[in-house]
Parts: sequence; C-alpha cells; structure tokens
Amino acid sequence: MPLTLMSGCATGIGAATRQALEAAGHQIIGIDIRDAEIVADLSTSAGRQQALHEALARCGGRLDGLVLCAGLGPQTPDVGKVVSVNYFGAVELLDGLLPALQRGTAPAAVVISSVASAHLLWDKNPLAQALEGGDEAQAQAIVRGAGEHGGNLAYAGSKNALTVAVRKRAGSWGQAGVRLNTVAPGATETPLLQAGLQDPRFGESIAKFVPPLGRRAEPAEMASVITFLMGSGASYVHGAQICIDGGIDAQMRPTQF
Ligand code: NAD
Repeated sequence: MPLTLMSGCATGIGAATRQALEAAGHQIIGIDIRDAEIVADLSTSAGRQQALHEALARCGGRLDGLVLCAGLGPQTPDVGKVVSVNYFGAVELLDGLLPALQRGTAPAAVVISSVASAHLLWDKNPLAQALEGGDEAQAQAIVRGAGEHGGNLAYAGSKNALTVAVRKRAGSWGQAGVRLNTVAPGATETPLLQAGLQDPRFGESIAKFVPPLGRRAEPAEMASVITFLMGSGASYVHGAQICIDGGIDAQMRPTQF
C-alpha cells in the first residue's frame, strides 16, 4: 500500500483527492490547518518546520507519494499569507521530503498550481526574485504594498513561481528517481472559489471566467487526474504541468504552450 503525504486535504480539491487516492489503495497522512493527522499552519516558517518534523516521524523517513494542495485564494484578507502558503508551504515541503521520497517505491509527487500560473509570466513576475531567493518577508512586503492589486498579484505571482520551482527541480528529482508534476486547475467548485465569488472585488471577474466546456469543474475531476499522475500509468510523465481547465488556457493563449 503506497504511503502518501498530502497537504490541504481538509476541503475542496484536497479532500476529493484524498478520497480518490484512498480508493486507489493509498494510505494517507494529511497536513492541514484543521481536520488532519498533522495539524500545522503552513503560512509560517515554524508551522512548516513542525509539519515536516511530524511528517518524517510518522512515515519513518520513507514515503511513496506527496500531493500538495494547500493554498489560499486572492480574496484572503492578509495577502502576505497567500505567498507564504501557496509558495513556501509547497516548496519547503518538496525540498524537505525529497530524501524520504527517494527511499519510497515508484515515488511520485503532484503539486497543485493553477491556470493563474500563466497569467503572470516569470520574467514579468514582481515576486520572482524574492520567492526564488527564499525572501518571504520581501515577497510579503511587495504584495501588501500593491493596494487593490495585491490579491491577484499574490495569487498569480505565487502560482507562477510555484510552477517554475517545480520545473526547475525536474532535473534533480528525475535523477533522484522521483517523478514530479504540477496540475493547473481552472475554476473548481470549492470553498476557495465560493469565497472569491462572494468577494465584491473578485466575484464578477471569476464569474465571467467561463471555459469552452461551459461550466466550472467539480473537485472530483481534479482528483481523478491527480490520482492518474500518482500512479504507474503516468510512469513517464515528469516535469509537466497538466491543465485541467475545461480548455480556458488554450482559449486564452492559443499560441503559447
Ligand atoms: P480549499 O479552500 O477548499 O482548500 C484549501 C486547503 O488548504 C484547505 O483544506 C485549507 O484548510 C488548507 N489550508 C489553507 N491555509 C492553510 C494553512 N495556512 N496551513 C495549512 N493548510 C491550509 O480550496 P481548493 O479550491 O480546494 O484549493 C486547493 C488548491 O487548488 C489550492 O492550491 C488552490 O490554489 C488550487 N486551485 C483552486 C482553484 C479553484 O477554482 N478552486 C483553481 C486553481 C487552483
């Protein structure tokens, strides 16, 4: 039975993914700010260290899988927390858990990014240098100082840097024998999306964000692709970002891929 660690498994895409992975035979250790085996706050360095410490103790230093779903949306009141959870809450777990994954059987990891990762490209991402350099305080200061644009900047900037961080690790992780991919969901019916729809600053633009398939996704439609990426059917998929977005990325950026 594969032993898989997950973040963000309490609600939404993470909860659906936990259910799908368990149905596929995975034993799950969850990390979340609530309702998980490991309760930890990934928005702080201390919380991330606690999560890593407890995770390594629980798995005995050996993991077969890792799925990182924890994330905050652009409507989060403290936009500084968005960069902390979305970027550092994923990258620090990736780096801290690679040795345990190397000891696993057919190990694989999937990180949940977003279609928003392509809304702000790396060479124009004002957060790129601070995030890649590990300067959390500087990244938080940039988004907190961005006024009404802070939420979108924090979300798109952190997700763009997260996808880049995964792609930059494709070489070393491949050589270590651990597959690593991202998925880029489009609008999916979860508490995070509902909070965005109810926020007067973001609601209208999110509601207008209708993909070619003409509807928003259900969390289970993310979970099925993530489960595929974690399994032997995806044994040659590595360093990829899979859009699960009803076609919106293709519609918005047909010539860029
Ligand atoms: P959600 O709010 O239902 O789930 C997010 C999870 O992260 C929750 O379980 C929450 O408790 C956890 N979390 C939040 N802050 C945390 C913290 N400080 N420490 C530990 N855990 C924390 O939202 P979701 O839509 O299921 O989001 C899952 C992932 O999918 C996120 O990374 C999100 O950015 C991404 N995503 C969602 C959509 C969408 O439309 N729903 C679109 C693109 C990407």
